[in-house]
Amino acid sequence: MVIIEALYSMFANKCTRCHKGDIFEEKNPYKLGKMFKMHETCNHCHLKYDREPGFFYGAMYVSYALTVGWFIIWFALQSYVFQWSTTVFLTAFISFLVLSSPLTLRWSRIIWLNIFFRYHKEYERKDAAYSDDLKEACK
Ligand SMILES: [Zn+2]
Repeated sequence: MVIIEALYSMFANKCTRCHKGDIFEEKNPYKLGKMFKMHETCNHCHLKYDREPGFFYGAMYVSYALTVGWFIIWFALQSYVFQWSTTVFLTAFISFLVLSSPLTLRWSRIIWLNIFFRYHKEYERKDAAYSDDLKEACK
């Protein structure tokens, strides 16, 4: 279930803790002017996304893992389906990486947030962020 919850927040751009508030200001990752704009806190459960200065540097490791995953998929397709020349393969793969980079950036940050803040159904309640009992229960 943890993976399904993480996938939901990745694809829907929703807070990893409550699945209600948006993480990024712009829903479309390909509006490049607002690609990095994130809300400071969740507008539903008030989770502060940027926990400390440099918090999202860790998302670079996730981004690296995603890129390696893309390469494995592309290499398998190349080996068993396409069988292009090396030049064509590298051109196609690098083009894919450039075109998918806004999505990779967004997903890596959301996956990074999911590592630290798991979904809790109780936070779907609007008043949950102010409940001390709930804060203790969800630690
Ligand atoms: Zn939230």
